[in-house]
Amino acid sequence: MPRSSGFNQRIRANICPRCGRPSEDGGLCGACRAAQIRWFSCPARIISTCCPTCGARKEAGLWVETATSPKDLACDLVRQKINIIPEVVNPGISIRVHETGSNRSVADCRMSGTLFGEPVEGSCQVGIVWQKEQCDRCNRMSGNYHEGVVQVRADGRKPLPWEVRKARGIARDTEEGLAASGERLSFIAEMEETRDGLDITIGSQRIGHEIATAIVRAMGGRFTTHPKLVGERAGKRLFRITYLVRLPKYSRGDIVMVHGRYAEVQGTDGHDVRVSDVELGQQRTFPEKKIGALVGNVRDAVEYLVTFREGDAVGILDPVTGESTECRVGPGMQVGPGDSVRVLRTAGGLLLLG
Ligand SMILES: [Zn+2]
Ligand SMILES: [Zn+2]
Repeated sequence: MPRSSGFNQRIRANICPRCGRPSEDGGLCGACRAAQIRWFSCPARIISTCCPTCGARKEAGLWVETATSPKDLACDLVRQKINIIPEVVNPGISIRVHETGSNRSVADCRMSGTLFGEPVEGSCQVGIVWQKEQCDRCNRMSGNYHEGVVQVRADGRKPLPWEVRKARGIARDTEEGLAASGERLSFIAEMEETRDGLDITIGSQRIGHEIATAIVRAMGGRFTTHPKLVGERAGKRLFRITYLVRLPKYSRGDIVMVHGRYAEVQGTDGHDVRVSDVELGQQRTFPEKKIGALVGNVRDAVEYLVTFREGDAVGILDPVTGESTECRVGPGMQVGPGDSVRVLRTAGGLLLLG
């Protein structure tokens, strides 16, 4: 039977010499070729170094911030180190990490894919050593390292409470922004309210400059820098820089005395100040030098409840202590029992703002 013998000859010619199963060209079949090749490699052990204080991770000698949990981190690290040759189609790696000691873990890894048309599977174990080391940032912070200070002051006066609050907020936001962009050493070492204003001690000159710039952008005024030589390290001169921020003399919402009356600052152009009379609501403009004492700012006012009104006298209730006080109101103020009014505590007593 010539047809059938020809068919048998073709089969015999195209079989794998190792396993006897069919092969495409008479050479090793896909399964035998796949079995011969080392298609993946795993490291025996990896070391992961983390800061015990802040959780930052050391990567190739550099500290980086990480938000990943240690277990996910271990999986990522192991995955990065497993190498699968490019001939493998649809490679997959599954990893399970379990602890074997206080600073040791083991990752069980399973690899799969398709090689020379044959499904392949393999497994390996990778040891993980968890090392603890204090990072550069925590090291500097615990060692009271700093490169300067931002001093928040105001022109001819002490910064008001709202200005100190706002400057603090701006400083924290700046620190967060820099940390998020990888500026690890741009930290705030300390923030302290002093007799003259707010002192922000900083870990780098970069953050000092950014905080001073951001405060002036948001609150007006200007800043100057004052370097001071503090020593030398490895032939380099070391400076600490004071960033002196001067907030403007008056800003919107300030309560000032003008000709013996309370007035709220609406705006200033550096020479003239536009104000409105607190009691009467009248708007007027005065040269800056005619403006008297700065009493406070509406941002520091507190809401009080009005309990009664008799002519130009009202009773108001302190929201914290519950204490009742009688106050005079201006004729321009439309307040009655049940209303709430903004009250500013001044050196001269309570001032109703309406
Ligand atoms: Zn074979
Ligand atoms: Zn740290």
